[in-house]
Amino acid sequence: MSDDPSVFRTGPGPVQIDAERLAARVAELGRAIARDHADGPLHLICVLNGAFLFMADLVRAIDLPLTVDFISVASYGSRTESSGEVRLVKDLDQSLKGKHVVLVEDIVDTGLTMRYLLGYLEGRGPRSVKVAALLSKPSRRVVEVPVHYLGFEIDDAFVYGYGLDVDHHYRNLPFVTSMASTAEPEG
Ligand code: 5GP
Repeated sequence: MSDDPSVFRTGPGPVQIDAERLAARVAELGRAIARDHADGPLHLICVLNGAFLFMADLVRAIDLPLTVDFISVASYGSRTESSGEVRLVKDLDQSLKGKHVVLVEDIVDTGLTMRYLLGYLEGRGPRSVKVAALLSKPSRRVVEVPVHYLGFEIDDAFVYGYGLDVDHHYRNLPFVTSMASTAEPEG
């Protein structure tokens, strides 16, 4: 778990983050991104599909000129277990040369998807790359990845809503909620 006092932790048990709390936190992240990128040019990249609502709210909370692009990756493996092998499904449309990039992700779980994406973006000549993630599950991390702007730190639970799905459903829920823990039962 992070020691950063600015990080919101939902604590043990089921995850419930209502629309008001999401909106308040996304507004804070937007202000932080704007504060850190006043020198521009700011370019936000949304990782489809899960980050589409977070991205839509985040860009409206950033009071700066900016551009947006979208990328999509698929990871091999089951719904709850990432295999670490990541494949590009939809590439970027715009160049990253000379831009301050903020990569916008729904959730960082093992970190394997993020590690792949950061390597991919770094190879395209951006001026800087930072990561904004709505959610993080630090107890599940397999590789360490930076998250510069984090919405909420959660325990190990499979969450959905506000863009995140369960087999392509529930992305339109205006809140984040959870299913039972994906952790191995003890004993
Ligand atoms: P990682 O590579 O960090 O293990 O996994 C990242 C991706 O797995 C996320 O972008 C998301 O698509 C998916 N993922 C991980 N945890 C969850 C979860 O609790 N709920 C949903 N809906 N997707 C998840």
